[in-house]
Amino acid sequence: MSVVVGAGVVGASVAYHQARRGAPVTLIDRAPAPATGVTGASFARIGGRGGHWPGGAEDLRGSVLADYRRLEAELPDLAVRRSGSLRWDGAPVGAELGVGRFRVGADGIRALEPGLREPPEWAVHTPSDGGVDAVAVTGALVRAARGLGARTVLGVAGAALETVGGSVAGVTSSAGFHPASTVVLAAGTEVCELLAPLGLEVPIEASPARLVRLTAPSGLVRAIVAGPEFEVREVRAGRLLMTVPPTSSSAGALRHLQAAFHGADGCRVLDTRVSARPVPAGGPLVGHLTPDGSVYVAVMHSAVTLAPTVGRLVARELVTGEGADELCRCRPEGRVPRDGG
Ligand SMILES: Cc1cc2nc3c(=O)[nH]c(=O)nc-3n(C[C@H](O)[C@H](O)[C@H](O)COP(=O)(O)OP(=O)(O)OC[C@H]3O[C@@H](n4cnc5c(N)ncnc54)[C@H](O)[C@@H]3O)c2cc1C
Repeated sequence: MSVVVGAGVVGASVAYHQARRGAPVTLIDRAPAPATGVTGASFARIGGRGGHWPGGAEDLRGSVLADYRRLEAELPDLAVRRSGSLRWDGAPVGAELGVGRFRVGADGIRALEPGLREPPEWAVHTPSDGGVDAVAVTGALVRAARGLGARTVLGVAGAALETVGGSVAGVTSSAGFHPASTVVLAAGTEVCELLAPLGLEVPIEASPARLVRLTAPSGLVRAIVAGPEFEVREVRAGRLLMTVPPTSSSAGALRHLQAAFHGADGCRVLDTRVSARPVPAGGPLVGHLTPDGSVYVAVMHSAVTLAPTVGRLVARELVTGEGADELCRCRPEGRVPRDGG
């Protein structure tokens, strides 16, 4: 029996994949609904090409798009918008572009993104990039996990690891004691606090980023468009997501959008939120933290992209007991001092 703490996209994926393998699993979160943490404020671009893939993320990137395709087949209410991306935010050009990424000039950019007022001289086009609604994906995973027999305990207070005879035996919370042979910590930046009573310090930085949600005419933005000042995409008809630096304002984001696109004058900011992204030093942190196997950690940046792959691999290793080779560069060994010192 395992207990997963954190019903963000990572915990939801771990719970779903365990339930799919027929393993008993309880998913716990202090919030009354899934995806109220960083996942609920994510830009949620997914892609396996280009970008920065620190540490063990490099070994997972090749599976990202296939795992999303598999999930779309398994969960009918989960959908990926395969819009491709156009970047001119300092992305590399020429030979370093790699497979599946193309340099396009101003005419090509105009054809792909007709709403842009002044296309740059060139941009990098990655047709395989896409995006999801991270809240919808997490909700779909949690519903499917429940349908497969997982228990969900949401809206609890005071979740803490319960130690018996030197081993973690489960999680206590306002909803009682939840026994577990393994507790999976998928609580993002707050994994550090949950581990403090064990004297374990995990190297997870909280990196702020701002998301702005806006209304817009359908189809105003076609691809994922990333310039030096902002990144924008349509998440569904009439709704845009933008990321800007945390120090920028939502009004500033709207000004950037209106300056960049024809037809954006009527766009309106719905809301904005700055969230602390969990960024483990050295890339994804995934694996057993205690020698007895009672505590397992699953924390990473770009987790919307990586969660389907990581959830599949974590569930496989927890259920079969066989370590997944793909995760070997994500392990806590050598990154988390065992004695907290
Ligand atoms: C503006 C922005 C843009 C981003 N863009 C992208 C992108 O384009 N692509 C991408 O892949 N990623 C992106 N990310 C990063 C991505 O959103 C995160 O990596 C991901 O959401 C982390 O998911 P998580 O499940 O680890 O954490 P969370 O979603 O934070 O989930 C952790 C859960 O644990 C719960 N919890 C915490 N402590 C406790 C406790 N003590 N007891 C009970 N429950 C607890 C919380 O309530 C929360 O629900 C972006 C993030 C931001 C903010």
